[in-house]
Amino acid sequence: MTPLKPILACDAGGTRIKLGVVRGARLLAQTEMDAESKKGLAAALKRIAREAPALCRKAGVTQKSLAGFGLSFPGVIEPHTGKILSTPAGKFDNAKHLDAPKLIAKLLGLPTRICNDANAALAGERHFGAARHCRSVVMMTLGTGIGASAIIDGVPLRGQHGQAGCLGGHLTANLDGKICACGNLGCAESEASTWALPLQARAHPDFKKSRLAREKVLDYAAVFHAAANADPLAIELRDHSLRVWSVALVNLIHAYDPEIAVIGGGIMRSGKIILPALRRYVAKNAWTPWGKVKVKPAKLGNHAGMLGVASLFLEEK
Ligand SMILES: [Zn+2]
Repeated sequence: MTPLKPILACDAGGTRIKLGVVRGARLLAQTEMDAESKKGLAAALKRIAREAPALCRKAGVTQKSLAGFGLSFPGVIEPHTGKILSTPAGKFDNAKHLDAPKLIAKLLGLPTRICNDANAALAGERHFGAARHCRSVVMMTLGTGIGASAIIDGVPLRGQHGQAGCLGGHLTANLDGKICACGNLGCAESEASTWALPLQARAHPDFKKSRLAREKVLDYAAVFHAAANADPLAIELRDHSLRVWSVALVNLIHAYDPEIAVIGGGIMRSGKIILPALRRYVAKNAWTPWGKVKVKPAKLGNHAGMLGVASLFLEEK
């Protein structure tokens, strides 16, 4: 397959779907739509197929010239079949029972790659972003959940069922923690992620005294802002989250022996607070007798999923 042929690339989140035409590292055109995830993945794929002709025109390419369709999806994907083995709670519930590659072939007539969203993001960072020319990399994405992914000796880590490396957010970070949505105890994600944060804050005995109780959106931007203004609960939540992410990162480093760790995801809009804390903890606690793992912010931002899943076609020439 010629690497420079355009790819139709889709980043399906639980709330929004991003669709783009990508050639190499360039996003030629893009559009966004509501995920309407309760209507299921089949309905979303049909809407995507309807959008494709107009998007190709906008990108200045013909639909016939597309070399493939890449779908980044927030779930565990069986690598050899493209079968979706898990979906985010309450979103795209039917996807596990859908032969997505077959439906896409029928709708678009294109070769298809379906990829876990964290794996797609790391593929993009390695080809075009913060981890270019690196052979062994881990990535942690801090957002609604915590995503993880690893590339070892230049080979993306997948495992028998596509779980290897991408469950870094579900490594235990607190033995006294709560049961996570995945069923495990005290996962990094159930200790410190955007879905867990409001639950933890509201369950705290001091919540009503905190300025966080008056926030319309209780997210990490609100917590970092309130912590900077000396709100005791916000400081507690901030410091706990920074420790959890640090511990999770050291676990990934110990598991996969990377030369570099890339940190992405929406919470990294506050990277100025997060990165120094991660770097301090990794320098102090990661056992890397050869030297220090570099901890870098992701570069591709909102486009990581689309560029990443398109880059998979470059790997499989
Ligand atoms: Zn979990």
